[in-house]
Amino acid sequence: MQMKYFLILLSISFLLTSPACKQKAEHNETTSSDSDFNYIADRFSDIQVLRYKVPGFEDLSVDEKELAYYLYEAGLCGRDIFYDQKYRHGLLIRKTLEAILNSYTGDKHVPEWKLFEEYCNRVFFANGIHHHYSGAKMLPAFNQEYFANLVLNSDPSQLPLNGLSIANFKQKLSPIIFDPTVDPKNVDLSDGKDVILASSNNFYRDVTQKEAEDYYNELKAKNPDDKSQIGLNSQLVKMDGKISERVWKIDGMYGPAITKIVYWLEKAQGVAKNEAQRNTIGKLINFYRSGKPKDFDEYNIAWVKDTSARIDFVNGFIEVYQDALQKKGCFESIVSLKDLEATKRIKTISKEAQWFEDNSTLMEEHKKKNVIGITAKVITVIGEVGDAAPATPIGINLPNSEWIGEDYGSKSVSLGNIVEAYNYYRAKSPMIEEFGASQEVKDRSKKYYALSDELHTDMHEVIGHASGIINKGVGTTDQTLKNYAGVLEEGRADLVALYYCLDQKLVDIGVMPSLETGKAQYDYYIMNGMMTQLQRINPGDNLEQAHMRNRQMVASWAFEKGAKDNVIEKVVREGKTYFVINDYTKLRALFGELLRETQRIKSEGDFEAGKNLVETYGVKVDQNLLQEVHKRYENLKIAPYMGFIQPRLVPIMKENKIVDVKIEYPSSLIEQMLEYGKKYSYLPVEN
Ligand code: ZN
Repeated sequence: MQMKYFLILLSISFLLTSPACKQKAEHNETTSSDSDFNYIADRFSDIQVLRYKVPGFEDLSVDEKELAYYLYEAGLCGRDIFYDQKYRHGLLIRKTLEAILNSYTGDKHVPEWKLFEEYCNRVFFANGIHHHYSGAKMLPAFNQEYFANLVLNSDPSQLPLNGLSIANFKQKLSPIIFDPTVDPKNVDLSDGKDVILASSNNFYRDVTQKEAEDYYNELKAKNPDDKSQIGLNSQLVKMDGKISERVWKIDGMYGPAITKIVYWLEKAQGVAKNEAQRNTIGKLINFYRSGKPKDFDEYNIAWVKDTSARIDFVNGFIEVYQDALQKKGCFESIVSLKDLEATKRIKTISKEAQWFEDNSTLMEEHKKKNVIGITAKVITVIGEVGDAAPATPIGINLPNSEWIGEDYGSKSVSLGNIVEAYNYYRAKSPMIEEFGASQEVKDRSKKYYALSDELHTDMHEVIGHASGIINKGVGTTDQTLKNYAGVLEEGRADLVALYYCLDQKLVDIGVMPSLETGKAQYDYYIMNGMMTQLQRINPGDNLEQAHMRNRQMVASWAFEKGAKDNVIEKVVREGKTYFVINDYTKLRALFGELLRETQRIKSEGDFEAGKNLVETYGVKVDQNLLQEVHKRYENLKIAPYMGFIQPRLVPIMKENKIVDVKIEYPSSLIEQMLEYGKKYSYLPVEN
């Protein structure tokens, strides 16, 4: 309920099994032309670091660029906050690592130095010493003696000693970094534990779970009509037996960073595009000044209404999942521009929704007479900070206050250029190299897969779910198809997309360069549905998850029904299995046939047929194939997690005025983190 970041379902599989590549990044700082942009950057531990482009930035007006720049700076000024929120020693560790990276005078050509750099990368990526996804403490691969040597041979004036001698400093750091039993988990929700004491984040100090709950229950009881997110922006502390809040505001906790945020927001307000945007930024400044959650609501209400400007942003204490009690918001900032191209592509498809409906393979009586395509929105990210970086969401649905969503609406967008970077990477990944059925398939994937996936997603959402009608007197699918409703619905939406992926219509309306794009989608869909998605299933298990079921259902149904014409052929070469598509046109016809049947099942509420379809094709796993897929994946050394290096905005000044803003694309995570450390360290290290 609280965690409103949504992941586009189609891409979840990818995020969790994200492919990695051993390719080394070429360090070309400012590449911006389409063909030679390098999406792939650093690879370490379980992480693949990527880069993303910001198409459209250059075409913004100078005012818009200036606005984006101020919002980008406002975001970066809050970076320290998230480190401190995640862990009370987060800034201490980060500044120590920065000092060593910047000033260590010893030998950097020894294996231990590489291990140290890897540890730095991991800490920077996680914004602290706890893993960004699992929340578990990450231990270095080098030992304490080596670490002592690093500290001794670094510039003491750069270390965050806070008055300690070097010896005491080392003593203090040692358990924090090396002892697995000290603060082992960022958020610990284990049953039977005091979730506040067990979690090592910095939202509570010397407070038990019961004390925290009592404190907020009492507050709530005093203000029963207050709908705001009480406790959103404070640390709860017990001092001398008394519990109180240290509020995050301009003259409170995190004041030095918030002062800077406000400074840049005021500049942004000065160049806001229109009254709605000016008002929105003003409300956010109010909140940072007052520290009242009520004022954050005011800001959110203004923000959802502010829809016309090209530049948009998220800035504040947003997601609460780092807090075991789901109250405290983590700082994050996302600056973005509206993706006119992708929004146009979706609109183009949406506008033709009736044509797609009329020309589909559905039985006449199941076609909608007045179909309205769903309009989705796409944004292009310019910069992310805090809880949104380097690991990033691919979709945002805000605000988190449900009552604001109900009364005023919300903004739901997908992060187009982030998705594009993921897709680009997936197309080039060693996974396609390993499982692609032929050289032709691999080449096509490199060229067209990324676009084909975006198109598939667009059509799945915009015309797929919107298509078809249920016969009069038949109940809702939840009632008729019960536990098979979700699988069949997702399968149906996929089939609409697949059927039209290979239609000249998409070329004619200008959203696809040629039918090769559609073929790339067919290649991937069959490979994934028949084989590669099994990587996520444990040996012995069958398919449970709805999307995995529907993909196997569609792929293996087409495989079996096309067998007599050899439409899809299973071949084994040197002990490796491949699925080769021999006839794309016939495969398309099969997709059309299954689309008609799944719609019939839905329209008539034919539970038995639906159940039969799912159980026959979408549940059982070929265990031998599963073993093979697991073995082949293992050899690929694919990183399970991905995140991004951020672009850099550089203002061009003339006579103290911004006359342009350049965008640059750095290519080393560590260098970017050191740059941020130098420029945006506003919070002191606490003892
Ligand atoms: Zn769907």
